[in-house]
Amino acid sequence: MSSTALWHPFADMHEVKNSQFCVTKAEGSWIYDDAGRGYLDGTASLWYANVGHGRAEIVEAAAAQMRELESYFVFNDFTNPPAEALATRLSEWAPIEDAKVFFTTGGGEAIDTAAKLARQYWSQRGKPQRTNILSRGNAYHGTNGMGTGIGGIEANRSGFGTLVPETARVAHDDAESLRSAIESIGADNIAAFFAEPVMGAGGLYPPEPGYLEAVAKICAEHDILFVADSVICGFGRVGGWLGVERWGLQPDMIAFAKGVTSGYLPLGGVVVSGKVAEPFWEEPGHPFRHGATYSGHPTVAAAAMANLDILEREQLPSRADALEKPLHEALTAVADHPAVAEVRGGVGLLGAVELTPEMLADGALPRLQKKIRELGVIVRPLGKALAVSPPLIVTEEEIGLIGKAFREGLDEL
Ligand code: PMP
Repeated sequence: MSSTALWHPFADMHEVKNSQFCVTKAEGSWIYDDAGRGYLDGTASLWYANVGHGRAEIVEAAAAQMRELESYFVFNDFTNPPAEALATRLSEWAPIEDAKVFFTTGGGEAIDTAAKLARQYWSQRGKPQRTNILSRGNAYHGTNGMGTGIGGIEANRSGFGTLVPETARVAHDDAESLRSAIESIGADNIAAFFAEPVMGAGGLYPPEPGYLEAVAKICAEHDILFVADSVICGFGRVGGWLGVERWGLQPDMIAFAKGVTSGYLPLGGVVVSGKVAEPFWEEPGHPFRHGATYSGHPTVAAAAMANLDILEREQLPSRADALEKPLHEALTAVADHPAVAEVRGGVGLLGAVELTPEMLADGALPRLQKKIRELGVIVRPLGKALAVSPPLIVTEEEIGLIGKAFREGLDEL
């Protein structure tokens, strides 16, 4: 299929316009192309189809809500029952005291919300100079202004000018690098530190043992807000609900999106601690002058509630815990292949196979991705690796198909 008008995100349109891959249908862990051929959705679309595709229960919840009240805004004192119910549920699930929930339409907006809120919190607290936002090399925080500005993947930042002043990046795997950045910038000039629990788009890096606990402690020691970007890790992907529980983290804010609706409708948001919310909620005259037209959209919230019902009823976070080992084993089975440099994963239903520098220089990554797709499995190029993140309903047998496709694809390469 070729395109005359649809501009694909992140794509080289010169190439893609003449060779698109058209998806027309999906069911469970499988997607189908326009010729009717099935492929195992090894990436849960863009890391989000946690409950799998084609769940009538979510469709019906959204349709029922649309018949009642399709949409109404929640600025000022307006509210609606699904948005209230979802905020309450998420605040109860989050390992954060007295949590509040601010809704957006996706992960990038959630990051912008958290970054603006962090700066304004300090301004409200009489420390307006606390503006610096620290993040990690290789971090991906979306493509909005703030998320681009604090992102750590150089290629995603270059060519756009300075979108956000007062940002700094630290090594992604070394808590001491955060400590020395704080020493040189001065804790009293820093608003927040952002971190993905498992780094996703930057190449799939699970945290070094003790890393997340250490950076959370360093932030607490210096009164720097710790913001977890759980856009990928939330809603069961690494077990737990908000993507931070397995490390015992209690961040000041948690950005979420993706799995909150499993992608049936677009939604993101930020769970905000009572501490950060306090100047806005407990003191008069401090509105947070921020929000999106579709914040608190009732149909989207109803779809999210139905999705969370499924995640809860089918205990999908525990299923991810149980399947992380089989998935990791399926991928490490190709670790000895001469084209493979490294296999990463083992934390949740996430994994990546990195190719050797020689293979990468030879342009093998996109070739391997296409080969694996021809073999009937969807995987995604991320940096130097191909990543997988199947729906949480994936079976062990299907995980076996992922491993087999990697082996055959690599051999053909
Ligand atoms: N943060 C992380 C960790 C992400 O992986 C993503 C998207 N892949 C985002 C933020 C941005 O989310 P969105 O694409 O919904 O704006």
